[in-house]
Amino acid sequence: MENLKEFWEQVLTRLEPLIKRTHFITWFKNTAILDMDETTMMIGVPNIFAYDWLANRYRGEILKAVSELKDGIKEIKYEVHSSLDNKDDTRGVDVKFLLRRGATKSVRKLPKKQEVKLVEGITSKLLNPKYTLSNFVIGPANRLAHAACSSVAKTPGGEYNPLFIYGGVGLGKTHLLQAVGNEILKRDCEKIVVYIPSERFVNEIVEAIGNRYTKQFRKRYRQVDCLMIDDIQFLGNKERTQEEFFHTFNELYDANKQIIISSDRPPTELLGLDDRLRSRFGMGMIADVQFPDYETRLAILHAKCREKQVLLPNEVLEFIAENAYSSIRELEGILLQAIAECQLEDRTPTVRYVAGIIKKLHKKRKLIGIDEKEISPEGRVNTISDVINIVASFYNLQRVDLVGSVRKREIMMPRQICMYLIRKELNQSYESIGKEFGGRNHTTVMHACDRIARILKKDRKLLRDVSGLKREMGL
Ligand code: ADP
Ligand code: MG
Repeated sequence: MENLKEFWEQVLTRLEPLIKRTHFITWFKNTAILDMDETTMMIGVPNIFAYDWLANRYRGEILKAVSELKDGIKEIKYEVHSSLDNKDDTRGVDVKFLLRRGATKSVRKLPKKQEVKLVEGITSKLLNPKYTLSNFVIGPANRLAHAACSSVAKTPGGEYNPLFIYGGVGLGKTHLLQAVGNEILKRDCEKIVVYIPSERFVNEIVEAIGNRYTKQFRKRYRQVDCLMIDDIQFLGNKERTQEEFFHTFNELYDANKQIIISSDRPPTELLGLDDRLRSRFGMGMIADVQFPDYETRLAILHAKCREKQVLLPNEVLEFIAENAYSSIRELEGILLQAIAECQLEDRTPTVRYVAGIIKKLHKKRKLIGIDEKEISPEGRVNTISDVINIVASFYNLQRVDLVGSVRKREIMMPRQICMYLIRKELNQSYESIGKEFGGRNHTTVMHACDRIARILKKDRKLLRDVSGLKREMGL
């Protein structure tokens, strides 16, 4: 049995890159090889929809992947086994686990090469091609910095030299620096463009000093057309390093080579910095990046969605723009989590879900646009009203039917499930549940809850419904 499962996992690993992620998750979830001999194979699927997709649409791909792994299989049969969806049934493959495992593997496989050697003795960090001047969203908070960068990219070593960009964490400094680098290289790929975080630069200088080749060091750097040092604040209090940097700076400057520096604060506030350097930094152009206003934040979110080719509801984007206010990095992080939810779980993230993500990151943050009572730190549903809505939409019923008094089986069962979930997951008293359901007596609610608990023990369909509902509730 285990062998069949392992084999199926191998087949799925081959299929996965060929199939849209959401489809892969939806249709291959809890599938299994039930039987296999030399020439035929029996695949079990949990429902008729999966049957349709696998047996009809993916038939060819599946057969191909199977025959790549095992000779002789001529026929694949499909069969619906609804028990495969059951948690206790261990035959089915956990596709999400498979995906996660695949994901970590491919990350590890990525070459570690994050630096390039440009000429003898000069290395740069690789520029990230995703940082460009055109995908940097402009607003009042960063317009000047962006304009200065654009100008420098067109005429390096010109008017704005050195260019000093400063601002808080996650506001786009690295993006801008690398974008300039990318642009300069796009215009002339022969140019020597060095992007280096200041810690790395400090190490290089220290090494040069230690090995007594500071003269060569300066000479080498003279070849550089554009030197970008990111997060210069780390140069503070390193006197020998600053001294050496001062000379390198002058060599480049005198040769009209472009220098771009970023920092978390303006030159005047850099602690432990040699005054000579401080005044050099101010000789060209100083521009800051501030936290952008609401409209720009929203525009950034739209731009990132376009880049990733996903559609999120406007209200969700507006909610993020309104409530993420520590940095663009945070804004992006929240958006990415929402997108991940969208893709992995195959459902559209809601404002409530996103509120949960933000709350998890910033417990104390007051959120605008949602009633705080509606969210809990894990993004869980926690009001009676939410549960009623979820159950109603799950069973395609109206809310009023669910809380009303119609005694039809199609309504009574969901109604009782709803009471059960509220009791069990929200810990509400029978009385308060009764009140929500049209003033029912607390014993009625109690009987309903007991009944569902009893049926759950033996009815798989109900068990599946309830676990689906719990998932909807974020449990
Ligand atoms: P810093 O270097 O200032 O700490 P980064 O340059 O690393 O910040 O920016 C953090 C993230 O925010 C990056 O992914 C960057 O692409 C994005 N970002 C920042 N500002 C903008 C902007 N105006 N438009 C688009 N993306 C932005
Ligand atoms: Mg940075």
